Amino acid sequence: MGLFDFLFGGGDKAAPAPAAPAAAKVDTSGIRIHPSVDGGVKPGAASFGGGTIHCKCASDKVEVRIDAQTAHNHICGCTKCWKPAGAPFSQVAVVSRDKLSVTANGDKLEIVDPSAAIQRHACKGCGVHMFGRIENQGHPFYGLDFVHTELSDQGGWSPAEFAAFVSSVIEGGGYRPDQMDKVRARLKELGLVPYDALSPPLMDAIATHVAKSKGVLS
Ligand SMILES: [Zn+2]
Ligand SMILES: [Zn+2]
Repeated sequence: MGLFDFLFGGGDKAAPAPAAPAAAKVDTSGIRIHPSVDGGVKPGAASFGGGTIHCKCASDKVEVRIDAQTAHNHICGCTKCWKPAGAPFSQVAVVSRDKLSVTANGDKLEIVDPSAAIQRHACKGCGVHMFGRIENQGHPFYGLDFVHTELSDQGGWSPAEFAAFVSSVIEGGGYRPDQMDKVRARLKELGLVPYDALSPPLMDAIATHVAKSKGVLS
């Protein structure tokens, strides 16, 4: 039998294809991703309509109100997103910017890097990023704020759906290159498909925006 028939043929009933060798099970014990998913990804609540998040200061916490369920929640390996202490990855979701308001101690917020596409508003007291906002109206994600719903005491927020910028976790010092097979295997175990950019729907949204702004797509 030729290779093509072996891979794609199916007509030869007399000679069942040999079973593919079982993929070696990757030992993912000890691989931590983020505290919100390390014990399994918890489902969101269909009726959930938002809540509050707060920073980690012992007193005078910055509080932000989000008046909607979040979307596109994901694990992120980039070096810019805020991560809880000891976590190699962040978890970040988006919400429409008109649904987000600072409700307490907003005077403690400062923009981490005003020149960055996503302006991350962080608490000067504890360093937690309370929200990331895009001010460039030409940016594909203009109108969306980035938030870390683990900062909320409420349950029901949309769960992480995938993992973005996974290879960048090497840059952040979270994992060595020789550990990445285990990291990706663990993400898949958790049902979080690992991507080294954003997920295909979000990459398509960016490309669509760019194509329309160039006149390639009407
Ligand atoms: Zn704080
Ligand atoms: Zn990130």
